[in-house]
Amino acid sequence: MFKKNGQSVPDSSTADATEWQLSEFQVAEQDGKKRFHDFDLPLPLMRAIADLGFEYCSPIQARSLPYTLAGYDVVGKAQTGTGKTAAFLISIINELLTRPIEDERYAGEARALIIAPTRELVMQIADDARQLTKYCDLQVHSLVGGMDHQKQRDRLHNALVDILVATPGRLLDFLDSRDVFLDEVECLVIDEADRMLDMGFIPQVRRIVRATPKKDCRQTLLFSATFSDDVLRLSEQWTFEPIKIEIEPESVATDTVEQRVFLTTTEEKFTVLFNILTGETVESAIVFANRRDTTRDLFEKLRKKGVRCGILSGDVPQQKRVKTLERFKQGDLKVLVATDVAGRGIHIDGISHVVNYTLPEDPEDYVHRIGRTGRAGASGQSISFACEDDGFLLPEIEAMLGRKLECEQTPEALLEEIS
Ligand code: AMP
Repeated sequence: MFKKNGQSVPDSSTADATEWQLSEFQVAEQDGKKRFHDFDLPLPLMRAIADLGFEYCSPIQARSLPYTLAGYDVVGKAQTGTGKTAAFLISIINELLTRPIEDERYAGEARALIIAPTRELVMQIADDARQLTKYCDLQVHSLVGGMDHQKQRDRLHNALVDILVATPGRLLDFLDSRDVFLDEVECLVIDEADRMLDMGFIPQVRRIVRATPKKDCRQTLLFSATFSDDVLRLSEQWTFEPIKIEIEPESVATDTVEQRVFLTTTEEKFTVLFNILTGETVESAIVFANRRDTTRDLFEKLRKKGVRCGILSGDVPQQKRVKTLERFKQGDLKVLVATDVAGRGIHIDGISHVVNYTLPEDPEDYVHRIGRTGRAGASGQSISFACEDDGFLLPEIEAMLGRKLECEQTPEALLEEIS
């Protein structure tokens, strides 16, 4: 069961990068901006960064990398859309490449562990990790529930594990069955800690953290979109003399997203939605609703009306969700209808519109939702419907944003009956 792996570990810091020179990745110095060139990162990593088209560091990257690369623990207040995934992955990959393990390694023994609350988020992080490690000999594994258990298990037995990305529940299954070992973890990332709390995962995360080396013997990076008292308490327990970094949500949401609020009635909402989605300006869109049944209902109605759409909500089987996301990414689907939890892990660039069919009850979800568009510097538009049932939620959202949202009457053209 506990399979020894005597393979020699190749010197991954030079793997496959021989023909590529840093001079092929030119980025001019700019005042107030940090480049990835400023951190002396290994060549294979720089090459992958160049392929991704990243030029300058995003604020969370510029502020965290100097510390994470030096081995400090970091507690970061940042949400999706800020580039936090690349921030922690770059630091991990740098560490793994610059300190290769010379000794024998064991199957299932992870060097870096990233835990995230949802399956979509795990898949996305693993995807980003694979892109950033494409020129290195580092193995990325993802463990998520609802997907092929045996396949994940076989891979753990047959390949080394450098970066392990997992949801807490599935990771515990593998830990209990002794297919995964965490006692050699050098770097632990806890992503979206606030969402882990909301979803009741903390007891599980606690068990996982306990299975890793003591906090002064590992590097711990904890990210959360909010710093509630509970999150701060957990970060104190799990990190060692951490550096605190806060990136305000506005730097994601309001800069690149034009936010509109349409005053509607409950009855006319579907017509307005349909007209928006079939209008000329929408290239791709995510429609958010608060409840699963509303999501299902919208999806069915849109599909019947010929809109190429998919659904992402908790009651859709995992494999189907992954396929749906893939089809959306490839442009095969124009619209995704999602609930907040399922929609949180969507990291897709180029989404032109976000529609809030119902306003979220938690104002932070508003920021998360609209952050699905306007990503990576592109511009996007969010349209929120405020009707008699949920208009009262607006003031809280405005308080969170720190600014007023102008409400407008729904444009006449969008009220036209669907033919
Ligand atoms: P995240 O916050 O991790 O969800 O990342 C948001 C998006 O920004 C992802 O699509 C990344 O590929 C992209 N991204 C991350 N870092 C950079 C960067 N330095 N420059 C441009 N895009 C980036």
